[in-house]
Amino acid sequence: MSARFALEWREAGGLMWLQWDGAGVCAAFPTREGGVSPAPCDSLNLGLSVDDAPGNVLENRRRLCAAVGVPQERLVVPGQVHGTTLAWVGEGEAGRGAFARETVIHDCDGLLSGAPGLGLVVSYADCVPVVIVARGADGPELAAVHAGWRGMLAGIVGQAAAALSRRGRLLGAVVGPSIGPCCFTVDEGLRARFDERFPGCADEAGVNLWACAGRDLAAAGVPPAAVTVAALCTASDARFFSHRRDHGSTGRHLAIAWRQEA
Ligand SMILES: [Zn+2]
Repeated sequence: MSARFALEWREAGGLMWLQWDGAGVCAAFPTREGGVSPAPCDSLNLGLSVDDAPGNVLENRRRLCAAVGVPQERLVVPGQVHGTTLAWVGEGEAGRGAFARETVIHDCDGLLSGAPGLGLVVSYADCVPVVIVARGADGPELAAVHAGWRGMLAGIVGQAAAALSRRGRLLGAVVGPSIGPCCFTVDEGLRARFDERFPGCADEAGVNLWACAGRDLAAAGVPPAAVTVAALCTASDARFFSHRRDHGSTGRHLAIAWRQEA
């Protein structure tokens, strides 16, 4: 890992998260520790779409926001559908989806913004969260992308990077904890699709979604040396929720990415 930007563990208020610091943009990827939700969402379930009391989720979100220093009312939550729709968001979207599912940015799998202090959210439990930073005209701009295998094949990671690069120079990216090549076994048909789209990123053992993301980031112009891969597999590491390992009955992580105040 010769990445230019640091990715390191932080701890506060009983929570642990990986924090990436990249050119005026930060991203936090929490573990499942430190929350109030009971099994199977124990304990820091941050998703309102799973079988958990909303009050638990909001308390968990409150704890995460307090720990990482992003006000909960500044979160922007997309209503993810494994698609490729991206949305630019600003002050007017602050708080969308932060406290209720009804107010999410609908049918959206990637958020882009240059607004300081807005917390762009990605929800996941195996899918790949990717945060990209570019230098825009008025400072850093960022993208926070949800890429499951469908979105990865469809190219949402490269599309988000391209959208940023039309406005400024791409500086770096981080690929957060998600299902690794050790555990992402697929059937022959899906492997063939990955083989065609991302030659060399799939073999008998599994598909390497982290490598797929790296390919598309590089193709869009993100310097490969500035791409940090957490390389932590949610399915084999008990610190994380895993949709596959837990047969669909589990919690959700939220990655939060934000531009630091000037
Ligand atoms: Zn694994």
